[in-house]
Amino acid sequence: MTGWTLVQGGARQRGRRAHQDMSRKTIILPKGHQNGKRARAGSPWIFSNEIRMDDAAKAIAPGAIVNVRGDDGQAFGTGYFNPKSLIAVRLLSGECDAVIDADFFAARLGRALALRERFHARPFYRLCHAEGDGLPGLVIDRFDDTLSVQSGTAGMERQTDAIMSALDRLIGPRTVILRGDAPTRALEGLETQVRVVKGEGRRIQLEENGARYFADLAEGQKTGWYYDQRDNRAFIASLARGKSVLDAFSYAGGFGILAAKAGAREVICLDSSAPALALAEESARANAVTVKAVKADVFEELERLSASGETFDIVVADPPPFVKSKKDLEAGARAYRKLARMAARVTAEGGILLLASCSHNISADRFALECAAGLLRTGRRAALIRQAGAGPDHPVHPMLPESAYLKALVYALD
Ligand code: SAH
Repeated sequence: MTGWTLVQGGARQRGRRAHQDMSRKTIILPKGHQNGKRARAGSPWIFSNEIRMDDAAKAIAPGAIVNVRGDDGQAFGTGYFNPKSLIAVRLLSGECDAVIDADFFAARLGRALALRERFHARPFYRLCHAEGDGLPGLVIDRFDDTLSVQSGTAGMERQTDAIMSALDRLIGPRTVILRGDAPTRALEGLETQVRVVKGEGRRIQLEENGARYFADLAEGQKTGWYYDQRDNRAFIASLARGKSVLDAFSYAGGFGILAAKAGAREVICLDSSAPALALAEESARANAVTVKAVKADVFEELERLSASGETFDIVVADPPPFVKSKKDLEAGARAYRKLARMAARVTAEGGILLLASCSHNISADRFALECAAGLLRTGRRAALIRQAGAGPDHPVHPMLPESAYLKALVYALD
């Protein structure tokens, strides 16, 4: 039998070939220029200007499974195609005619699951991180028997049934929420929708770093919880005993609750969202700690705090993405610089400051430069003591290092 077998661990698998699928179209990469250079080196992306975008290609339905070949016949593999997207093809397999079905997804997701189980004892993690797990466009967060599934592309959207059946086989979730609200969906011609497709209830409890949290998967932001900051929260908590902590842009209290649990003397969670702060307060009760929830604009509140001379031993500033698209780079960079300056002003002498960015469209170097410029404007000496990204349940495709969007810089201030 040539079928996929679900193997835990690192066994090499080869895909089944779709011998009978006569309807599958082929996308051609003309030779020459730089066409397919990155794909040849192993990138899963092929751009629209690299392919022969003729009428036949334009007529292919967005999201259809295609073969990709050079005009010399070289096989690039099997992927999904969207004539409307700048990233025209995202490759799923290095072989042409690979069968993309529930078995395919069970194999890839099985591999992703086995990896998570190596570093997380409890079933709370990002189960699938798109290209990093060999499944471009698919993000799945796991909250025990509840899954939040996000398809960011037309190609993945079309595979929803196969993905659901693979997840049923692997995990048997009680509740599945389809979050069709990734910002990339508009670029793919997809509409925005959030649906509970299995079970009911969107409010969940989760465990992280030994703390309990609450999240609302349908109302919350992104998939409802930011597992990416897990290790950074633990680092901050490790410094928090006896300290005062300001968790700015706290959302549901990811940093603040853990710091309180680690023995912080005082914790303020600051956010403009009342529902997010209500979740933080609920989580505080569940962990038998106290945090003060303050609903305010962070920039205004930092201004007010520094005018009144208030400072905190630890300040965390983990804002929403300031650089949403490339054209926002300069304005976003200025906002990061300003935030660094204002956050440093409320950081006590000898204090610790964490500055984070979850913008895909600012590089780690540029972000670090803006933070440094903002900090030094305050006249304080700052030492960078930690440079981190997302945790290991957010793997990055080695050919797409720029997809490592999260940057977290921790400074010790004089
Ligand atoms: N630090 C959080 C994640 C932050 S997400 C964690 O560890 O989970 C960004 C948060 O910023 C959201 O909760 C959003 O409500 C809040 N926010 C966005 N703009 C804001 C502003 N100007 N002032 C206060 N909060 C803001």
